[in-house]
Amino acid sequence: MLQTNIKDIYAIGDCAEQYEPIGLRRPVEAVWYTGRMMGETLAQTLCSNPTEYKPGHWFNSAKFLDIEYQTYGWVFSERNKKDYEEHFHWRHPKEKLCITIALHKDTHEFLGINNFGIRLRHELFDRWLNEKRSIEYVLEHLKDANFDPELYATYEGAIVSKFNSDFNQNIQPKKKSWKRILNLH
Ligand SMILES: Cc1cc2nc3c(=O)[nH]c(=O)nc-3n(C[C@H](O)[C@H](O)[C@H](O)COP(=O)(O)OP(=O)(O)OC[C@H]3O[C@@H](n4cnc5c(N)ncnc54)[C@H](O)[C@@H]3O)c2cc1C
Repeated sequence: MLQTNIKDIYAIGDCAEQYEPIGLRRPVEAVWYTGRMMGETLAQTLCSNPTEYKPGHWFNSAKFLDIEYQTYGWVFSERNKKDYEEHFHWRHPKEKLCITIALHKDTHEFLGINNFGIRLRHELFDRWLNEKRSIEYVLEHLKDANFDPELYATYEGAIVSKFNSDFNQNIQPKKKSWKRILNLH
């Protein structure tokens, strides 16, 4: 509810610290997107619709000059990696482009992605996390997720080929489908 220990006083944004962190989240999340979600949640409460703060799957994005990154779901650093977590990494040989995908060691469930220099759709990754898709499914449909500007080079082939070699698999990236992207059946 974002209420402090003082009645009718709420804390949102950078100054808010959760008594009990939600899921794997940190008690303080000083990022723009969580600040906005907290604001939207609190607005409901203040308008007589008491609403619990449910931020959903972790995500963030940032742009520094010509470099941008996005993160969807959980990809922990080597030092903080969970015992069930395994990583697949692809890096372009020359350009500043790379992705790291976290997967569950045993089930291959997709846990999260960090993408650097390649734009990937938030809505799709959020859906795939909800649907508990495997890393194989995510890579097969990676073309659906790309939203780099038109005429930009794409790297799904190279990424999937590296995955096939690292994980001894033989998956093929599917053609981009707007029907799938828009979830039209
Ligand atoms: C350099 C930088 C880069 C960032 N990049 C990203 C990013 O790429 N992605 C991302 O998600 N987040 C990013 N963040 C974090 C993001 O900017 C913050 O999480 C977000 O702005 C927090 O919003 P807020 O409203 O909680 O606090 P703030 O934006 O800090 O707003 C607090 C406001 O309160 C005012 N204030 C303070 N004291 C008083 C007072 N006594 N009386 C009246 N007003 C007062 C301040 O002047 C300020 O305007 C970045 C932050 C920094 C510093």
